[in-house]
Amino acid sequence: MLSVIRDYFSIVKELVTPDAIYEGIENVPFDSLYQKGYRTILLDVDNTLLVYNELFMTLQKVNCIQRFKAAGFRVYLISNNSSHRRIQRVSRQLEVFGIHFSLKPFVWSTRNFAKRMGFDLTRSIIIGDQLFTDVIMGNWLRSYTILVDPLDKKLSFVKTVQREIELFLLRKFQVSRS
Ligand SMILES: [Mg+2]
Repeated sequence: MLSVIRDYFSIVKELVTPDAIYEGIENVPFDSLYQKGYRTILLDVDNTLLVYNELFMTLQKVNCIQRFKAAGFRVYLISNNSSHRRIQRVSRQLEVFGIHFSLKPFVWSTRNFAKRMGFDLTRSIIIGDQLFTDVIMGNWLRSYTILVDPLDKKLSFVKTVQREIELFLLRKFQVSRS
């Protein structure tokens, strides 16, 4: 019985532990990740690139994504937002392709998208602000996972509870900030 619990614990740990944590996408050491062989960056949209009710990104975020591209990365958006229009607007602003309503942490949409676009998920970096969607999906797909701080710190009640659980797990599994 105890070993079953231990196995379960280690599976959960593996799924929710990001490979790295940074304050924001600007802090990601993309050059060294490129040297390690990663070629694609998959970005979460809400609270990673822009706040829920905002329509446009800051110039800082846009510039950062231009730097990813200039370094040789292919960049895509993977969003759980159900609004096609919203994700399309961000896609246009960044000149990248993306999918909305991706149902993270489930991997099916992202896997199909990778097949369609022809990129290797094991050589991809997934960046997002939530353990339970972005990081779990990325680990499930065997990609490199990066957790960033949510842009909007004033979260809804449900999101606050979720965030507390996420922070608890990070402490529990002793994942520290890079
Ligand atoms: Mg998000």
